[in-house]
Amino acid sequence: VSKASHELRTPLTSIRAYVEMLVDGEANDEVARQEFYRIIQNETDRLGRLIDNMLNISRIEAGIVQIERKNVDFKTLIGRALETLEPQAREKRMSLITKVAEVDLTVEGDEDMLYQVVLNLVSNAVKYTPDGGRVTVAADSDNLTRCVVFSVSDTGLGIPPDSIPKLFDKFYRVENYKRVAKGTGLGLSLCKHIVETLHHGQIGIESKLGMGSKFWVSI
Ligand code: ADP
Repeated sequence: VSKASHELRTPLTSIRAYVEMLVDGEANDEVARQEFYRIIQNETDRLGRLIDNMLNISRIEAGIVQIERKNVDFKTLIGRALETLEPQAREKRMSLITKVAEVDLTVEGDEDMLYQVVLNLVSNAVKYTPDGGRVTVAADSDNLTRCVVFSVSDTGLGIPPDSIPKLFDKFYRVENYKRVAKGTGLGLSLCKHIVETLHHGQIGIESKLGMGSKFWVSI
């Protein structure tokens, strides 16, 4: 509760400060006012994302999430995620590569939830990889375990070894990367819950600091 309150208070403090300045007439021209509105809008969006993620995680933890089971094709999920993230990748002159095996990649699960996992992992790879980098999205099926294995590899910052055990914890963010991209520190925790609690799969990471990371999911 204390961590969550702290995270919620940060954007709220910023919104309050900018609203107060507007009320007190401290933004003396239209350019300054527009800048204040933009900050308030960004912080409000952040507050909304935090609350949505917190509610989703707490519903899963409370065991009250009903998942809609049907056949879900990872090829479709990957296609949708790449279409959504393509503009961000283009802006950073990054290459998005897919290595999707020509085999059956369907699993039984909740389409919306699994899409959140794919989107989150690819979005993180794009966020935490510097301009000009490469993100490779792969999927294959493991005949032995009858699992679909999905992975996202990047040529980005990598994860410091001492952060790896904490990476899937709620609100955990690598301190030095907070400047690199916006985030809530809840995305990976939600992914882990969706994969492990709701779909009885596994999620993991391999990374070399400064070389890049590979996040994988097996369902
Ligand atoms: P956030 O909203 O901060 O991105 P996540 O829970 O998705 O939260 O990720 C937690 C933290 O893990 C991030 O803040 C970042 O420090 C680190 N991280 C996640 N993905 C990557 C990646 N592909 N490369 C480097 N660091 C990453």
